[in-house]
Amino acid sequence: MTELMAALTDTWDAENSWKLSTYEAAGGYEGLRRALRTDPADLVQMVKDSGLRGRGGAGFPTGMKWGFLPEPDGGPRYLVVNADESEPGTCKDIPLMMASPQHLVEGVAITSFAIGCHHAFIYVRGEVLHVYRRLLAAVREAYAAGHLGRDIHGSGYDLEVTVHAGAGAYICGEETALLDSLEGRRGQPRLKPPFPAVAGLYARPTVVNNVESIASVPGIVTHGADWFSSLGTEKSSGHGLFSLSGHVTRPGQYEAPLGITLRELLDQAGGVRAGHQLKFWTPGGSSTPIFTHEHLDVPLDYESVGAAGSMLGTRALQIFDETTCVVRAVSRWTDFYAHESCGKCTPCREGTYWLKQILHRIEAGDGEETDLDLLLDLCDNILGRAFCALGDGATSPITSSIQYFRTEYEAHLGGRGCPFDPARSTLFD
Ligand code: NAD
Repeated sequence: MTELMAALTDTWDAENSWKLSTYEAAGGYEGLRRALRTDPADLVQMVKDSGLRGRGGAGFPTGMKWGFLPEPDGGPRYLVVNADESEPGTCKDIPLMMASPQHLVEGVAITSFAIGCHHAFIYVRGEVLHVYRRLLAAVREAYAAGHLGRDIHGSGYDLEVTVHAGAGAYICGEETALLDSLEGRRGQPRLKPPFPAVAGLYARPTVVNNVESIASVPGIVTHGADWFSSLGTEKSSGHGLFSLSGHVTRPGQYEAPLGITLRELLDQAGGVRAGHQLKFWTPGGSSTPIFTHEHLDVPLDYESVGAAGSMLGTRALQIFDETTCVVRAVSRWTDFYAHESCGKCTPCREGTYWLKQILHRIEAGDGEETDLDLLLDLCDNILGRAFCALGDGATSPITSSIQYFRTEYEAHLGGRGCPFDPARSTLFD
């Protein structure tokens, strides 16, 4: 990988990588200095030209989202960073914030200047106290160095940044539930439209962006939109973090241009654990339909993954070898969705609970022949009918695993139960 390609991770292995001095020694905050000399509208255009798409999972064009903000009316407008990473398997933002928090803080300052925001918020999961502390320390260091606060670098531009810890709920990663939570209410999704760009935090125009999206901004300003768009594919430009976990020799974060394949990533990661073969994997966390060994060469960009029947999502590549029972894995994910359903809408609240019950009885050997069709029927009644993406996400692993592994489900029926030895898989207790 070239130095420029490794833009997000290139200081991660340095001593005290999280310190401002380490980040500045590697050229950090050059982007902010340049941005402050640039017309904000040109910065928005630069991010549009780069082709950066939201790294939180949906892949919505970032510059376009900024461009949706209405004309200034003299009132406040906000940037809210969604640092509430909680999708099962998704583990890229937390390492980024731990290893190089200044990347995010610089991105917050540039983005805020570009969109005319004077108060930005970073909403981080409540459970990850170490990340909260690291962000607080990073923001304090940035204030002390004059990268945040009043009259930043003599530009006349003022910016306050608040780091806010949530209370630990998956639903608060949904952007409007996050805004409700930030306002002090119980986090539940709001009806969209209006999108946050029009009426977000305190009903004011708000940009909500993922950590990695914002951390990608300094690189774009420093190296140019053309540099970024020359990486990746035509419609999925740039580079990003790919998180490999599960049955892989060297799990971790691999930064690469979009469009790389799992086969290429596994080459870097030492392959599937020794003596075993790939059985199934998720391209973008548990909310995306699973893939199998047939999909090893699918380019990991939004278009190619979509055409192959899944979603790029958060690039959380969870690898499962042949020792893993797919029903058990899917059942675990379903437990998660049922537990995390906020209860606002019936299809998700009731549906995830029913899905969980059926999967448990199949896994225990109490499943009936009709249960697979019942599962698919339930998924069909949740998909597209839930209030937010949580309900849809819960159906993806079920429908896709029945599509690829129906015979394995059937092997559980008729009183037989799970034919796998859970101890061999090592992933489930
Ligand atoms: P979405 O497609 O509804 O919206 C994506 C973004 O684009 C939002 O910020 C939305 O406000 C904006 N947007 C879309 N249309 C717009 C319009 N017309 N005007 C203005 N703004 C507009 O997706 P979503 O429900 O926000 O997110 C779903 C994704 O979240 C899934 O793809 C999943 O991969 C991901 N996800 C990530 C995590 C995690 O931990 N990172 C957890 C759960 C889900």
